[in-house]
Amino acid sequence: MFIWIATAFTSVSAQSPVFHAVQIGDTWVALGKRYGVDPEQLQTASGYINRQREPAIGSTVIVPQTGTFTGRLLRSADGGLWQTAVLNNTTPWQIVTENGLNSPYHPLFYQPLFIQTGIAFPRDLPIGFKEIELSAVPARSGEGIAFRGETAVPMKVTAKLAMRGEQSHSEMDVTGNGRYQIGLTGTGAFYGRGEPELSIQTEINGRLSPLWSQPWQIEDGAWAYQELTYTGAAGTITQAQINEEMGRMALLWEPNSGIEWTDSFHLPIADYLEVSSSYGTRRSIGGGWYATYHEGIDYSAYRGTPVMASAAGTVVLAGRLSVRGNAVIIDHGAGVYTGMYHLSSLETAVGDTVQAGDIIGAVGTTGLSTGNHLHWDLIVNNMWVDGEAWLEQGMGCWLVEGLGQPCES
Ligand SMILES: [Zn+2]
Repeated sequence: MFIWIATAFTSVSAQSPVFHAVQIGDTWVALGKRYGVDPEQLQTASGYINRQREPAIGSTVIVPQTGTFTGRLLRSADGGLWQTAVLNNTTPWQIVTENGLNSPYHPLFYQPLFIQTGIAFPRDLPIGFKEIELSAVPARSGEGIAFRGETAVPMKVTAKLAMRGEQSHSEMDVTGNGRYQIGLTGTGAFYGRGEPELSIQTEINGRLSPLWSQPWQIEDGAWAYQELTYTGAAGTITQAQINEEMGRMALLWEPNSGIEWTDSFHLPIADYLEVSSSYGTRRSIGGGWYATYHEGIDYSAYRGTPVMASAAGTVVLAGRLSVRGNAVIIDHGAGVYTGMYHLSSLETAVGDTVQAGDIIGAVGTTGLSTGNHLHWDLIVNNMWVDGEAWLEQGMGCWLVEGLGQPCES
């Protein structure tokens, strides 16, 4: 296969093609400037049919290589050169010279401008951003999905990830701290493969910049399978009770601008026997279809083992639910919540402010449960995601650092 591709390009170029793994900012224009190739040639070589769509982050583009060039790629936020120059640490005269512009007063709204300088490869980022990083390339279904970035000046940022199917909440929770911005949302474990469009819009001095967008490849996760049979009192829970509980919980997820946690997320339990079920595990109840998945992590433990808050936040639920039993839900800000269920006792109340490590209750087997265990889950933007990735030096810390703050774990 490789030999066939290499041969196909011998007539175009004496060099062998490069297989470029697409990162954020690697748009057709940016890759064209980087390799000195016409963007249309890149699209043809890579077999892209929809030429209006940028290459997906996490996918591979075939480059019939001719060279590599470093520099900066600039786009104008307001059609003029002055603000573009200021935001990119350059001068209007340098942009004019480098790009051979005849009239610097001609509106340059959508025209990408290239300055061949520096050591970095050109990237096509949302206007005003100096740097953006993504939480994972490609991302995986069931993950919290996030970007963090630094802008040239403080600005308002909004972002969307265009999900399909179960995801109607495509708006990302964006939090800013001066020139630092983080944005996050969640995919469910049923999301599967896809290339949702990440779009970011900046607002500088009250003026909206042109919308930036690039697809982001999401791969399917690897999940375990589990068959469950509930017996005794658990089997008597009705669909009406389940619906009532879902309705009650849906009211909790409110967008919240500030993040309340200041370091990494910690294990909610110090003494446990084993992880008896991980996030995403496909579940068949009583021999039926694998129609549901496990929304959190189960830690089997002795009854009465203390359960702690994973991170700082505000308690928004502390009470009895039909399925989840004695439950505590903590709002950590920025659309991030953690839930702890099946507790034998509660040691906190709605409205309490908690710190990481504060005891909020004890392990039990209340609600729909087959034995003493702690179910801990993490919700991002109204979607249950894999909390494992947030623990210790994971996502919690990555986001704190994304706001320009040190993360003490
Ligand atoms: Zn569970």
